[in-house]
This record gives sequence, structure tokens and C-alpha cells, in this order.
Amino acid sequence: MRRDLLGRIQQIFLLISILLLLVIGVLAAQSAGLPFVSGESLAGLLPSLPARPQVVLISGHAGNDSGAVCTDGAGDVTLAEADVNAAVAELVAARLGRAGNNVEIFDEFDPRLDGLVADVLVSLHADSCLDYSGYKAAHRDNDPLPADSQLLACMDRAYPAATGLAYHPDTITRDMIDYHVFRKIDPSTPALILEMGFLGGDGALLTDGTDRVAQGVADGIECFLEPATEQP
Ligand SMILES: [Zn+2]
Repeated sequence: MRRDLLGRIQQIFLLISILLLLVIGVLAAQSAGLPFVSGESLAGLLPSLPARPQVVLISGHAGNDSGAVCTDGAGDVTLAEADVNAAVAELVAARLGRAGNNVEIFDEFDPRLDGLVADVLVSLHADSCLDYSGYKAAHRDNDPLPADSQLLACMDRAYPAATGLAYHPDTITRDMIDYHVFRKIDPSTPALILEMGFLGGDGALLTDGTDRVAQGVADGIECFLEPATEQP
């Protein structure tokens, strides 16, 4: 075991030395004014790194409308779903980015959704201003992938663990399982829509507890990606 490790370290040092020599050679050639050495040809010499998992988050309703909107007695807006979704999406993207994933945040009707191929897509929404509590998640109803079920199982473990929210089973709507995004993306892309809680009964969590909400979403996605990103 130990000898294996030493051998690996030696290999890594050798690789680094070769790369350094290459870089020095290229820099020397460039300073000597040789025009044929471009950054592109240098990139071609480097060993290609494994691709980072591509995670797409949809900031629910972004670029389109406010989603659910709560108002006070005077009719003034106190909380808008799209703002909650955007705040959580930013935090989730930051967490997953730090963990080495390639994360992008899309609008609700982002043109890049057409035929999208990604390692995972999660659309972030929140529910109405009714005084209910709970989250729910759904994947495509029509011909779901085994990976859709794995993603859903991961989210159903991680999200309630981080947020303390219970699953709210009675309000999964046609809009969720026949979600427009499921019909646009490539059928090979595992996807999920998550209603992170009710703006009504879970308003405090969704505004003051966004770190926990984001942790729940990020944990669910990482649980799903783990087998693919694990080193052999
Ligand atoms: Zn929504």
C-alpha cells in the first residue's frame, strides 16, 4: 500500500516536471519570437482532466413572473416567490461550485433548456402563501429515467434532514409532473422540480433560513452525483 502511494507520488512529480519543462520551453519559444507556439497548442499537450459535473439550477419564475406573491392587509407585497427562489439558487450554486461542480443558474424559460444535456437539473420553486408547511419534489411523469428516481430519493433524504420540513404529499400538481422543462430538456438529463416550502407557513425558513434550505438542496444533488464523481 505504502509503496503504491510512493509510486503514485513519484509519477505525479514526474508529470509535473514534464509539464513545467513544456511550459518553460513554450515560454522560451514565445520570447524567442517563434509564432507557431500558441496557447491552444499548449493546451493540446496537457492531459485532459475529467469533466466536472454540470449542474443546472432553474431559479423558478426568473425572467418571467414573480410566482406566488404574499401581501399584507394593506395589499403591499411582503414576499415574492421568485425572490426566494433566486436567493436559494445563488447559495446552492456557491456551495456546489466550491465542491468542484460546474453550476449554471437558468431562467424559468431559458432558451438553453431546449435539448439541454446536463448531469443534473433541479428547478427551485416555493409554494403559495397559504398557512401550510412542507416541501415536495417530483420528476417527469412521462417515461422517467432510473436516474430521476435516484435523484428524487436523494432529495427526499437530504432536504427534510437539512430543513426539518416534512413532505407535503397532497399538493403535487399537474404543473409539477408535467412541468414544461421536462418536455424541453434532452430525455437523458436527470431532472427534478422542488417546491422548497410554503411562503405562508414556511416563510421564516425561506427568508431567514436560506442557508439551511440551500444546504438541503445541495446535499440532495451531491448525494445523486456522488457515485459519478467518486474516484476509482
Ligand atoms: Zn413556482
